[in-house]
Amino acid sequence: MENGLNGTIEAGGNAAPDKSDIDAIQNRYRAERDKRLAAANVGQYVSPDGALARYVDDPYVERRFDRAAVAEEVEVAIIGAGFGGLQAAAELIKSGISDFRIIDKAGDFGGVWYWNRYPGASCDIESYIYMPMLEDMGYTPSLKYARGPEIFDYARSIAEKFGLYDKALLQTQVERLNWVEADHRWLISTREGDRIRARFVMVATGVLQSVRLPAIPGIETFRGHSFHTSRWDYGYTGGDPAGKLTGLADKRVGIIGTGATAVQCIPHLGASAGQLYVFQRTPAAVPVRDNRTTDDGWAAALKPGWQHERMNNFDHIINGRPTTVDLVQDGWTEVLGQIGVDLTGINDADERRRVADIAFMNNVRARVDAVVKDPATAEALKPWFNIMCKRPCFHDEYLDTFNRPNVTLVDTNGQGVERISENEIWVGGKAYELDCLIYASGFDFQTPDMAKRNGFDLFGRGGISLTEKWQGGMKTYFGHFNAGFPNLFVQTATQGGLTSNVTHGLGELARHFVHMVTYCHEHGVRSFDATPQAEDMWQEKLRAAAGARRQYDIECTPGYYNNDGNPDADTGLQAFYQGGSVEFFEILEAWRNDGRFEGFELAHG
Ligand code: NDP
Repeated sequence: MENGLNGTIEAGGNAAPDKSDIDAIQNRYRAERDKRLAAANVGQYVSPDGALARYVDDPYVERRFDRAAVAEEVEVAIIGAGFGGLQAAAELIKSGISDFRIIDKAGDFGGVWYWNRYPGASCDIESYIYMPMLEDMGYTPSLKYARGPEIFDYARSIAEKFGLYDKALLQTQVERLNWVEADHRWLISTREGDRIRARFVMVATGVLQSVRLPAIPGIETFRGHSFHTSRWDYGYTGGDPAGKLTGLADKRVGIIGTGATAVQCIPHLGASAGQLYVFQRTPAAVPVRDNRTTDDGWAAALKPGWQHERMNNFDHIINGRPTTVDLVQDGWTEVLGQIGVDLTGINDADERRRVADIAFMNNVRARVDAVVKDPATAEALKPWFNIMCKRPCFHDEYLDTFNRPNVTLVDTNGQGVERISENEIWVGGKAYELDCLIYASGFDFQTPDMAKRNGFDLFGRGGISLTEKWQGGMKTYFGHFNAGFPNLFVQTATQGGLTSNVTHGLGELARHFVHMVTYCHEHGVRSFDATPQAEDMWQEKLRAAAGARRQYDIECTPGYYNNDGNPDADTGLQAFYQGGSVEFFEILEAWRNDGRFEGFELAHG
C-alpha cells in the first residue's frame, strides 16, 4: 500500500438512504444549485488575451527551436501531440502509413501532461487503463494511479518508439487550414511560416484545450506573483511535481478553485506555504483514492489483450452495462456501477441511480466529518450535488490539509471571489493579502468557437470557416465530420462519445480515423465529405438520446458538464452523445463493418 487512508470511511458499504432522507437531500441539492445560479459570476470566464496573455506563456521551454520553415506535401497531418495525436500516429505506423506530420505548439509530446506539471498531478483514472498502448509498449505503470512525470515520460517514450520525433513540428502554432478544392488537399499554414499540404487532417487538440481565468473584477490589477496551474512556475515556488515547494515557505499563497486540479495540488501547497488560503465556490466531492504500487506478480500474469479487455470492462460498468466482473474496482466503478449499496426492490433505473448516488455522496460527506477536525470547515467542504455533476476528485490527502494550522478555507458560499486588487483578494467584504495567487480555474470545454480558441480556424469548401458553420450551434456527423470540410477528422467529444477514461476514447477514434484513411487508399478515394443529410440524421439521434441526461443536468450544480447551469433545450447537441460511450463506439464499429462509407460523398481518382 503506497499511502494510508485519512479517515475511517472506506469505499463500498454505502448504506441505502431512506425516502425522507432522499427528499431532504434533494431539496438541499436544489437550494445549493439555485444559490450558485443566482451568483453574478457563474460561468463567467475570461480568455487569457491582451493584458492576461502572459498566463499562457510556456514556462517549460527555455529556448525556441531554430529551424527553417517547412514546405512539403504529406498524406496525413495530425494537429496535437497528446495522447489523441500519439495514438493516431502510432495507428498510422502500424498500418504501414508513415508519410505524415504531427504538429503541436508545445515543446514536446504529451499534451495535457506536457502542460499540467503542477505538484501532485496524477491520473484520476487507473493507469492500467488510462495509459494507452501498454501492451505495445511493454510497459507497466509503477502505481495504480501514476503521477504526472511518469505519464509525461511515457508519452515521450511512445513518440520515440514509433519514430515520431522525426515527424514532429513542435513549438509550432497552426494559424489556419484551407481546403484547396483543385488539389483535394488541406493547406496548413503556421506562425513559423510552414506550408504543409496534407490529404487527410486529424485535429487532436483535446477536449479541454484552452486555459480559462475567472472573470473577477480587478484580475488584471494584481501585482503579486500569479499563474495558472497549467503553467506552474517552479522558478518561483521551488520544488518539483513531487512537492517541497521551498520558495513558498515565507509566502502568503492563495488558490482560486477547488476542482480536480486544485484537489491534487492543494496538499503540496499546504505542506509548503507559509500561509495558504483556498478560495472555494463549490466544494469538490472527494471520495477515497487508495493508491498503491503495482504488484509485479499481477502484472507478469496478465494475458495478451488484457488492456483492451480492462478498458472495455471499465467502460461497460460506468455506462451501466451488465458485466459479471469488475476488473478495476475503484471509486468510479463503485459509484457508476452502483456497487456497494443495497438496491433490492428498486426496479426503476432512474430511481436506482438516484438512491445509489445519494448513498455514495452520503459517504463522501461523512468522510469530510471523519477527517476534518474543525466543524465549520468540515461543513463548508461538504458537496451537495449528484456525483457526476462535476468530475469526482478521488484523493487521500486533500481533506486532511485543512487540519493544518497554516491552511484556511475561504468559503465564498457559492458566490465566488468578489474582486481582486493589487495585493488582495476580496470575499464577502473581507480582504486577504497575498504574495502569490494561483488560478486553478480550469479550461474551456469544446464549444462552437473551439477552432478560434485553439488559435486557428479551418476554411472548408467555398471558404466557409468552421466557426461560421458552427455559429448558432454545432452540427456534425458523429461529432467528428462536417459537411463542406472534406478529409477532416476533428477529435471532439462534443456530439461524439465521451468516456471518463478519455484516452480510451481517443484510441477508439484513432483506430476509426486510420480505418478511414486505409479505406480511401484501398478504394482509390481522393476525398470524403459528410453529407448534410448525414448531419441531420446525427442531430436527430443526439436529440433522441439527450432525454435522461438532460434531467440530470438540470438538477446539477453549475459546471462544465452542464454548460455552467444552462442545459438549454438543445443540450444534447452541444454535449457529448448521451447514449453513452459504449453505444457510441458500437455505432462507429457498425459503420466500419457496414463497409459502405455511409453518410459521405466520395470523390474517386
Ligand atoms: P475545473 O473547471 O474543474 O475547476 C475550476 C474551479 O475554479 C472550480 O472549482 C470553480 O468553481 C472555480 N472557479 C471558477 N470561477 C471562480 C470564481 N469566480 N471564484 C471562485 N472560484 C471560481 O478545472 P480543473 O482544472 O480543476 O479540472 C478540469 C478538468 O481537468 C477536470 O474536470 C478533469 O476532467 C481534468 N483533470 C483530470 C485529471 C486527471 O487525472 N486525469 C486531473 C486534473 C484535472 P465552481 O465549481 O463553483 O465552478
